[in-house]
Amino acid sequence: MRERLLQSPVFQMAAEQFERVADLLELDESIRERCKWPKRLITVTMPVHMDDGRTEVFFGHRVQHHLSRGPVKGGLRFHPAVDLGEVAALAMWMNWKCALMRLPYGGAKGGITCDPRAMSLREQEKLTRRFAAEIFPFIGEEIDIMAPDMGTSEQTMAWILDVYSTHAGRLVPGIVTGKPVELQGSAGRKEATGHGVAFLASRAIDKLGLTNGSASAIVQGFGNVGSYAAETMAWAGIKVKGISDVTGALWNENGIDVCALREFAAANRGVAGFPGAEAIDPEEMLVQPCDVLVPAALERVIHANNAAQLKCRILAEAANGPTTPEADAIIDARGDIFVLPDVLCNAGGVTVSYFEWVQNLQRFHWSEREVLTKLETLLESAFERLLHYAGDRQVSNRTAALALGITEVAEVKKKRGLFP
Ligand code: GLU
Repeated sequence: MRERLLQSPVFQMAAEQFERVADLLELDESIRERCKWPKRLITVTMPVHMDDGRTEVFFGHRVQHHLSRGPVKGGLRFHPAVDLGEVAALAMWMNWKCALMRLPYGGAKGGITCDPRAMSLREQEKLTRRFAAEIFPFIGEEIDIMAPDMGTSEQTMAWILDVYSTHAGRLVPGIVTGKPVELQGSAGRKEATGHGVAFLASRAIDKLGLTNGSASAIVQGFGNVGSYAAETMAWAGIKVKGISDVTGALWNENGIDVCALREFAAANRGVAGFPGAEAIDPEEMLVQPCDVLVPAALERVIHANNAAQLKCRILAEAANGPTTPEADAIIDARGDIFVLPDVLCNAGGVTVSYFEWVQNLQRFHWSEREVLTKLETLLESAFERLLHYAGDRQVSNRTAALALGITEVAEVKKKRGLFP
């Protein structure tokens, strides 16, 4: 299994980042191994009756990285490129993210290899329900709590809640987060990741002595995270000049009307053809001059071949794992880009998921204002901890973020000791 995981380029990347920081922290061998490998790797298959009468068998995975600090937490992704190695890498990153934010969770991630864009809603519902049934023995509101990720939504979470609650014989709202507000979802959860990205981008703009009013941004990805990040940045006065998704990329030097684009993209299943901007090559878009570059799509999009060409001042990693270690080395050597590393930059989502779960367990409801204020407080404090650590030890922001997260996990493991 070790070898199989290490064959995945995404897992290799997560493992390499971990090893580098473990060296810096001088973690001893036993703790290092315990922190690195996932506790549980679960693979299930789901036969689904498709609309055309065929029965298709889908593969799904859930990786629970460690349970030392509480239940595990993380999203469920529907994407054609999902494999076990990628899911395990994403679970590892969820760990450091939860620990950095001091949330009482270990990391997890789920993924089903499928193309939701090519499936009807009915097919997606059947697939989700069957996945929830197959994974039932391994999840619970005190064990493993799922949330939306790429290709899944509030609706996906509502179906999982329904399957789980029907089996349990009672409504179990805390089984998933990022569910509809009507089903005891939290106010502010849908916007939370994008809100966090925009909040931290503004904090970075401030640290660099710039102002929102004179700053510009480029956003790669216009799903839940990218669209809310773009909208919140635009609302804060930042000019969003470039936006892309799987259908194409757009450019408008005077700023794209993000609200109009959201409506257009919903009606046309993508941003391509939006009349309020010019088309641009998606790869070219990434290397245009801007203050804030926001990769909000897949992993490994900033790599050895484009890192030297970036013309941003701030790299706000809304996606998980958008920057390869090779690109990191180039960015570090350049020294002119302020990186908001993924485990901090997109932590708004899991943080408000935590708030949602706490509200569910307490049968209580917080207002959107309460949620977003608490979110900003936690993000601000993690941001300051990170800057302090990076400044003190003269390490990059990514190293500081990972070191803070890994230290929390390693300390808990040391204190708990080994059973038996
Ligand atoms: N999928 C999101 C992430 O990667 C959110 C996870 C959650 O809310 O549990 O952070």
